[in-house]
Amino acid sequence: MSGSVSRRQMFRILAQARFLLVLPVAQTLLSAIAPADAATSTARPEGEEMNLDDDSPGSMDPYRLPRHIIPHRYELRLEPDLDQATFAGRETIVLTITQTTGSIVLNAVDLAISSAILEGSSSTRQSATIELHDSTQRCQLTFSQPILPGEWKLHLIFQGKLNDQLRGFYRSTYKDHVGVTHTMAATQFEATDARRAFPCWDEPDFKAVFATTLVIAPRLTAVSNTAVASESIEAGKKVLRFADSIKMSTYLAAFIVGEIEATPPMPVGKTPLRLWTVPGKQLLTSFGHEIAVASLKFFEDYYDIPYPGDKLDLIAIPDFASGAMENLGAITFRETALLVDRQSATHGELERVADVVAHENAHMWFGDLVTMSWWNGLWLNEAFATFMEMLAVDAWKPEWKRWDSFGVARAAAFSVDGLWSTRPIEYPVLAPKDAEAMFDVLTYEKGASVLRMLEQHIGPTVFRDGVRDYLRAHAYGNADTKDLWVSLGKIAKQPVPELMNGWIFQPGFPLVTATVSPSSELTITQQRFSYLSDEQSGPSQDQRWQIPLQMRVTTGGKAKTSRLLLTEKNTTVPLPHDWESVLINEEGHGFYRVRYAPDLLDRLLNTGIDRLAVTERFNLINDAWATTVAGLMPLTDYLDLTARFTAERDKNVWAVLLDSFSFLNRIIPVEDRSALEAFIRGRVGPAVTDLGWIPRSGESELTKQLRGELIGAQGKLGNDPAVQRRAAELYRAYCDDATAVDPNVVPSLVAILAHTGDATRYDEFNERFRTAATPQEERRYLFSLAAFQPHALLERTLARTISGDIRTQDAPFLISAILGNVYGRELAWAFVKTNWEKMDHLFPKQGLRRMCGGIVNLATPELERDVRDFFTTRKIDLGGKTLAQYLEHLRITVTVRERDSIALRTYLDRYRKSL
Ligand SMILES: [Zn+2]
Repeated sequence: MSGSVSRRQMFRILAQARFLLVLPVAQTLLSAIAPADAATSTARPEGEEMNLDDDSPGSMDPYRLPRHIIPHRYELRLEPDLDQATFAGRETIVLTITQTTGSIVLNAVDLAISSAILEGSSSTRQSATIELHDSTQRCQLTFSQPILPGEWKLHLIFQGKLNDQLRGFYRSTYKDHVGVTHTMAATQFEATDARRAFPCWDEPDFKAVFATTLVIAPRLTAVSNTAVASESIEAGKKVLRFADSIKMSTYLAAFIVGEIEATPPMPVGKTPLRLWTVPGKQLLTSFGHEIAVASLKFFEDYYDIPYPGDKLDLIAIPDFASGAMENLGAITFRETALLVDRQSATHGELERVADVVAHENAHMWFGDLVTMSWWNGLWLNEAFATFMEMLAVDAWKPEWKRWDSFGVARAAAFSVDGLWSTRPIEYPVLAPKDAEAMFDVLTYEKGASVLRMLEQHIGPTVFRDGVRDYLRAHAYGNADTKDLWVSLGKIAKQPVPELMNGWIFQPGFPLVTATVSPSSELTITQQRFSYLSDEQSGPSQDQRWQIPLQMRVTTGGKAKTSRLLLTEKNTTVPLPHDWESVLINEEGHGFYRVRYAPDLLDRLLNTGIDRLAVTERFNLINDAWATTVAGLMPLTDYLDLTARFTAERDKNVWAVLLDSFSFLNRIIPVEDRSALEAFIRGRVGPAVTDLGWIPRSGESELTKQLRGELIGAQGKLGNDPAVQRRAAELYRAYCDDATAVDPNVVPSLVAILAHTGDATRYDEFNERFRTAATPQEERRYLFSLAAFQPHALLERTLARTISGDIRTQDAPFLISAILGNVYGRELAWAFVKTNWEKMDHLFPKQGLRRMCGGIVNLATPELERDVRDFFTTRKIDLGGKTLAQYLEHLRITVTVRERDSIALRTYLDRYRKSL
């Protein structure tokens, strides 16, 4: 899957909430992560042996279906009724039964099963009594005669509802150009919601062939995982029979039904590729089509294995909980992640579409062809797809410098992984619902970061060959983390598990501290990084990583690179006596932070930060800011350091700077805010003046995006009246002629005008939201409604989040945005408390979870207490360690406020007098 928030948006949210956990998707209000020492896959009361002959619910593994019944093939016929929001289903499942049994247990939930008949090879048939168990989401079929080992066919008839929860088989609605509402049906099965659409063995290693038939109204169209094998009319209904799929996991099946339209198929090798939209949106497909073709070709070449399906459809769905889902051959997307107008979109919006499309295509091999054996291995799917999306987009558009902006994703992982409440990338998963807590920044961004570190350590070609070996060895099957290490280690001829296990199976990451002695001995020390130090007395003190460390020592103006593998707590390296500077984490691929002793930092800065690569500058300022938040660097030193970056022109480095200013804006008392704004204007202003408002000819897309970001920061965080006036003028010009302003500047104009706007502006933006021409524009104006200052306007926005006026895929994010608005956060918090039950009922679970991420902005001791009280007394569980992470973020923010407020005020006073 791919997250519902883009990394650009992620950074924007990070800019509102320094530590907010934002990226991906599916999260339900379910149980906590299994304890780290629990068994991986089975959980039984002690002393109780599982008896495979006895399938009574009380005696079975509550989380894994028994292995003596194996499904091979689903012949599935579904007949959805969009008007009634129901569906009728029939299926025949071909099974191998390996030991005599009296019953069959499989997964089903929210389905009514009216008939279950088992048919043997000699056409013997017996029907079963059917029991559904909601708590285990299982269906038990009990037979009067014993079932002997052999091949069997299970025939089931069932009915279900097309729900509004954006999971299982669900309905999505949209309005056409004259305002008439239409309904379509779509599916979202990962992790465990296929069982809501048809009874099945809903575990990733029960791979089977799917032969699907969809029976629909003749005016409709349907898409599934494979090509249409035949189309006919039966009893006034259109019957579409789809070709057999490859062997695949249930969570990858997909059915989409509606009045949808497709682009003409474009052949990529042997694969016809199409994009699907609701009517009227075909004009927005060309960019997505281009990256879909480019990345499919790229992956066939990189993996050296042809695309495993018979066609590839990419379908934009108006209501979609996550960003996208890698159903084999029928990838589903939320509209903002697939449809875009390349003329009016910002660079960030185009990059978002390119990333998500490439990510999902990468999954066709990594995830679909080879699938994790169980949910503990989810990172194999997601970290890999995230890593591969970078490779593919970088190959497609090298001028986008995708690996530079990957620093932003790595930074997001660092911010969560610096918490005591973080978790290892891979941990034991008992109940599949615990896997829902894995769709987070640690699985995607930390996972991809450590893969990048490994790739750079063993070399890109060796890494690629190891991946090819892994995919070939496990094609059409399942695999675990150790299988990947075996393949990579075999090709690399290196002990990969020893290197990687520390990064995958233990929480956190190292802080590498560098000091130098008078005799030019460099000492490098590793310890676990943390923002809050008061718990630093436990076993984490002894945590060690094998750190592939690359460093650059400059002597006499000449730079020399050396590579070390740190395994001990302390490592000493002699430097030349005339050393000038030392840079740790050269090229910036390492997943660790660096803290330099003051003399080392001075020398590095005096050598000239313009001599560092972008990623090295990014890491320098990002690590400095993180150590400041952690109390390891004085805030005043950090603020001085930012003065060295006024000539910086890389958007990613600026993202860190703006993020830190935004953090200070959240913790600063109201009476000091204008002093902070003056400081921010001083830091940002020179770059805004230099870049101007109009792109210069030959300018890169990245510079255009930087201009937009800086103008937005100057107008909002800097509260610069001149910039605000100019923004209003330009916005008027833009309304008259959409080409009058560079697209990258438009979002900042909207944001600034919302920031300073009144009710008239609110109504104007609301109208633009309703009539937007592209998903990006719709989103931009929707979120502007969270950025106003007057409470009366924010109250209007809040009320609409639960009135049915705003899609539930967006509403929780809108509330989170108001929690991140320093003028509206208390209002939004009161609204959340009052309306919690309603939101809990209305919003998709992962949306609700994201919404709660906004609490990290409630950065006063009083609000923090109130937040803790609310979640404790209501006994709210957001799944996994999510809530603990949010609360720890909040604790850190309040800690900085309590520790540094006086120093900040003194510094800003001094700064003002110096002007
Ligand atoms: Zn994914």
